[in-house]
Amino acid sequence: MSVILDEKLELIYQDVLHRNAGETEFHQAVHEVLETLGPVMVKYPEYAERKIIQRICEPERQIIFRVPWQDDKGEIQINRAFRVEFNSALGPYKGGMRFHPSVYLGIIKFLGFEQIFKNALTGMPIGGGKGGSDFDPKGRSDDEIMRFCQSLMTELFRHIGEYTDVPAGDIGVGAREIGYLFGQYKRITNRYESGVFTGKGINWGGSCARTEATGYGTVFFVQEMLKARNDSLDGKTCVVSGSGNVAIYAIDKAMQLGAKVIACSDSNGVILDEQGIDLNLVKRLKEVERRRLSAYTEERSHAKYLPGGNIWQIPCDVALPCATQNELNGKDAKSLVENGCIAVAEGANMPTTPEGIAIFQQAGIAYGPGKAANAGGVATSALEMQQNASRDFWTFEHTEARLQEIMVNIHRNCFETAEEFGAPGNYVVGANIAGFLRVARAMDAMGVI
Ligand code: GLU
Repeated sequence: MSVILDEKLELIYQDVLHRNAGETEFHQAVHEVLETLGPVMVKYPEYAERKIIQRICEPERQIIFRVPWQDDKGEIQINRAFRVEFNSALGPYKGGMRFHPSVYLGIIKFLGFEQIFKNALTGMPIGGGKGGSDFDPKGRSDDEIMRFCQSLMTELFRHIGEYTDVPAGDIGVGAREIGYLFGQYKRITNRYESGVFTGKGINWGGSCARTEATGYGTVFFVQEMLKARNDSLDGKTCVVSGSGNVAIYAIDKAMQLGAKVIACSDSNGVILDEQGIDLNLVKRLKEVERRRLSAYTEERSHAKYLPGGNIWQIPCDVALPCATQNELNGKDAKSLVENGCIAVAEGANMPTTPEGIAIFQQAGIAYGPGKAANAGGVATSALEMQQNASRDFWTFEHTEARLQEIMVNIHRNCFETAEEFGAPGNYVVGANIAGFLRVARAMDAMGVI
């Protein structure tokens, strides 16, 4: 890792390495937070004394289980699923479920760890957790997805609940999967417990703007970072990696605010459309037809499809990594900076490697880490829980306004905390310290737990 830790924090990190061998993404996420906590230990030595950091690094509970199911040919398939209930100092564990073949304990732990701080930053009463499975939804029929979800929930139901642990979506888990998971939960428990899941359909307990929230929130965060530099998104050229839910609504909001989005991607390649991405086409291809992005050029022949292309080599003013972890490395960061990029905000979780982050920071560009920049998704999940608890249903406009207000507050909190701890303009420092302090104060108040 690039940055040297203070002596005490290095010992904590070494302990995390030993206790969680081989979980490289989790190590990376912990290191990135520890890098920024040195000044906090000086200002609040009581937290070091009471081992708050060590406690935060150890999940409260980890559940690993078998998910057997039958595919359309009648063949038995076996997957592994996880739920890591990381920290409940601020509220019930809250965080999504990810279905992707790369999922193993280290991925779920990195996501769960980040979620603690992200959720704290939202200011809402939610703890941190994450789950998922190594199940690959690609190419599976609706029936197969349903059988898998039902089997998974047949074990998971006993661990979750409105006041305990509230899952949602993430990569590979959208409205369809949440429907199947919630349906099975309701069936097994015989309870219509709306608040046990977020990201539900809007006619059965979901919230307006939850689908859009992560992408919209990321762009609201960019807007605030640019405002702090007396600039705006109007007329800016953007590239957005990914073409899933986060990317689609980041593109949508960036365009609404006057930016020109010229590129997006999937795991096979990049679409470069100098006239501006046709968002309705991307939505249809990905959300309705569930096809690859390469099909884009069938209908927009002037656009370029770059198989295996690197989106970060396309010159832009603003870059929004909205695909997955470690998708933007040091070399990518260098080419973005050299090509004149002025702002980066992470719609995905931990998309930039430590080397990439260092390059953005040395270049002095506005860099919004995922914990802050993509917190709008989970914040709107908390708004969904709020509506469920009061059996209410808010309008799209009202919910979006609340989301924007939350993103403005997160930005201000990160900005001011970075200044207070001697690192003006450093949103990594601001996000980590502001998130940490909220959790630490709550844990400390509750004794040795
Ligand atoms: N998976 C999303 C995240 O990374 C959302 C979690 C949620 O809404 O609970 O924050």
